[in-house]
Amino acid sequence: MSFDHSKDDKLVFETSHDVEIAPTFDSIGLKEDLLRGIYAYNFEKPSAIQQRAIVPITQGRDVIAQAQSGTGKTATFSISILQAIDTTLRETQALVLSPTRELATQIQSVILALGDYMNVQCHACIGGTSVGEDIKKLDHGQHVVSGTPGRVFDMIRRRHLRVQNIKMLVLDEADELLNRGFKEQIYDVYRHLPPATQVVLLSATLPQDVLEMTTMFMTDPIRILVKRDEITLEGIKQFFVSVEREDWKFDTLCDLYDTLTITQAVIFCNTRRKVDWLTEKMREANFTVSAMHGDMAQKERDSIMHDRVLITTDIWARGIDVQQVSLVINYDLPPNRELYIHRIGRSGRFGRKGVAINFVKSDDIKILRDIEQYYSTQIDEMPMNVTDLI
Ligand code: ADP
Repeated sequence: MSFDHSKDDKLVFETSHDVEIAPTFDSIGLKEDLLRGIYAYNFEKPSAIQQRAIVPITQGRDVIAQAQSGTGKTATFSISILQAIDTTLRETQALVLSPTRELATQIQSVILALGDYMNVQCHACIGGTSVGEDIKKLDHGQHVVSGTPGRVFDMIRRRHLRVQNIKMLVLDEADELLNRGFKEQIYDVYRHLPPATQVVLLSATLPQDVLEMTTMFMTDPIRILVKRDEITLEGIKQFFVSVEREDWKFDTLCDLYDTLTITQAVIFCNTRRKVDWLTEKMREANFTVSAMHGDMAQKERDSIMHDRVLITTDIWARGIDVQQVSLVINYDLPPNRELYIHRIGRSGRFGRKGVAINFVKSDDIKILRDIEQYYSTQIDEMPMNVTDLI
């Protein structure tokens, strides 16, 4: 189960209350048999949203989590539910509503898998399946029910789904639930639940009708917003310089040195060796440059951050705030399109203007055109007056 935690540093968080960040699953205070299930499921460390949301949910707080799919939401509420239920009581204690049958079934399987050592009963109560089977399962007693609103309400109305022990309602993909016209059924379900029922709502967006639902159903909810920081090329002027051959790059860079020092510049090379080589060669030619190295201590990194001309690779650049830099030189074109936008793009939050200059060998032209097309952007030949644009 691969989960790319490295993407977490591209996430932006906003929480309405002070929320502690739980660095490990062990630190959350989960039940032993649940913890075992989590590790057996190959989760090593909580994802960003899990670090923030599981604790307040297990403390009984109403929580609104706004996050895209793939951030670990399902596991967030599944773990919280498993922590909250008492498996010695064979009654429904948590109810999850989701917009599609597939999602409801998927949630059921995650709860069963994470709760593998807990002896948990979790039923998927969805349309399009045998009502008789549903009734049998529910009459038998289910700790957790994951379903679509229509069928769930039907089962509540017919008293097969007993609600008096329900203490948590999860509304997954709330925006989708409302888009699909489930509003009435959700309100119907909610009205049948015990008044103290805790509500956890997950949604990628919070349109008006979702907000209305939160004010109707929730008490002083903790709102956790997790979003990917959108990086764009908007406001960045992008140019290329034709260098024909690799050996021409160095002289081109020297010619540009005065331009670089007007502001702060970062020069990207594709390998560590090239960074060392270029740094050395620039110094020999009496230019002042700094190289950012991967093995530098943070303090050292912080101190060279303010140097005017930094030479680095993509990996080494991770720790620096390229957002502050207004001139980026691709001494080497990046090896893939994603790195192009990471090197020179800006997030909406910091949306500052900037200039990017690409050194392009004859056989790089195709790559440059591909990048241009992929991002629907424009990369023009560098004008003589580039200095005026910085
Ligand atoms: P969402 O509900 O936001 O789409 P999921 O909870 O389904 O996200 O998680 C997305 C994927 O990442 C799933 O394959 C899930 O098993 C996996 N995953 C979630 N949390 C973790 C974690 N802490 N460690 C490893 N993998 C995880």
